Amino acid sequence: MSDRPPGFNTLAVHAGAAPDAATGARATPIYQTTSFVFDDVDHAASLFGLQAFGNIYSRIGNPTCAVLEERVAALEGGTAGLAVASGHAAQFLVMHALMQPGDEFVASNKLYGGSINQFNHSYKNFNWNVVWADADDPSAFEAAITPRTKAIFIESIANPGGVIVDIEAIAKVAKAHRIPLVVDSTMATPYLIRPFEHGADIVVHSATKFLGGHGNSIAGVIVDGGSFNWAGDDRYPMLSKPRPEYGGMVLAETFGNFAFAIACRALGLRDLGPACSPFNAFMILQGIETLPLRMQRQSDSALAVARHLAGHERVSWVSYPGLPEDRYHALHQRYCPKGAGAVFTFGVKGGYEAGVKLVSNLKLFSHLANIGDTRSLVIHPASTTHRQLTEAQQMVAGAGPDVVRLSIGLEDPADLLADLDGALAV
Ligand SMILES: *Cc1c(COP(=O)(O)O)cnc(C)c1O
Repeated sequence: MSDRPPGFNTLAVHAGAAPDAATGARATPIYQTTSFVFDDVDHAASLFGLQAFGNIYSRIGNPTCAVLEERVAALEGGTAGLAVASGHAAQFLVMHALMQPGDEFVASNKLYGGSINQFNHSYKNFNWNVVWADADDPSAFEAAITPRTKAIFIESIANPGGVIVDIEAIAKVAKAHRIPLVVDSTMATPYLIRPFEHGADIVVHSATKFLGGHGNSIAGVIVDGGSFNWAGDDRYPMLSKPRPEYGGMVLAETFGNFAFAIACRALGLRDLGPACSPFNAFMILQGIETLPLRMQRQSDSALAVARHLAGHERVSWVSYPGLPEDRYHALHQRYCPKGAGAVFTFGVKGGYEAGVKLVSNLKLFSHLANIGDTRSLVIHPASTTHRQLTEAQQMVAGAGPDVVRLSIGLEDPADLLADLDGALAV
């Protein structure tokens, strides 16, 4: 190749991968092995001491997973990646590296329902305390910051409703307080938004969704943006203080702009254990090869479906930033002009009952709790993903009783419209 930096489509197919050194295999092999033979005793010692990079044991790293890590890091423009078992594992390992008991983080109030649960309940066991802020109001993030705030967490395009967050405005608040901004960019993928270009420090993905894209494998990825200076910052002891288990090594000093990814791997993944299986890493890589094609088609089809529903007599509202009248249309044009994503919500006239009925009468759309499949999907959040929340929490999360969420797949849009018209007519 020339010196020209490769474009996004090229990276989606090639980044991190090369013909297999041992066999010449062109597709990335599935290295389905727990462990790796050391060259000799000294090699083993240097791997365990983090003095050399290499494979030890697949809980900590695996060559198939390494290709996925490098590919997503390249697509996001980060310094290093870490593949893990799920999107939730990615969030958990990020917080494990940042938080100490009694610490706080500020999170957007418009998040995936599972994240709201993870933050409100499971994190309490670690005494990590979430403070919620209005996703549409950057000054609310500023107001929520205290001396114990260690992170700000947002989604770039928020699940479930078509909400686009002003990443740059929130990044400005984070920078002013020297707090890392963590962006869950699952719904956008790097094809639509690259959060590091807007001031994010760490990106997390549920690769289960659009990166994999075929609804067949659970996985997550953490990407280190390399932008945050942890060295000498006592607020982040995992990165800035000597690690007894690594002979007093200070990760921020030894690893510089990819120290955060190392902390997530060498402390979080090693001790807490949510490793990505090599087979799932292979499946996600397979999906990423067509990510640009799928995201464009699925976003275009989502706009066509949203436009149709916006004119439908049984529909009271549609929340899709691709529609010119949408409140997030200006942010869509600024942050993701290629498309507003494939997931959006709308309100069906008749509330909870009508929502449940619509979901039961659709035939082509699958009723299930996922997004980002090649197949179109539907869910009624109030009776499923967001049912653990109180009605007030459901409302702020964009998951009130009349809300129906669609994830548009790769079918012919005309078939999707016919299915929706049929089910709405019942
Ligand atoms: C699905 C999802 C998650 C959780 O990911 P899993 O892979 O299911 O653990 C986190 N954030 C968002 C936005 C999601 O859609």
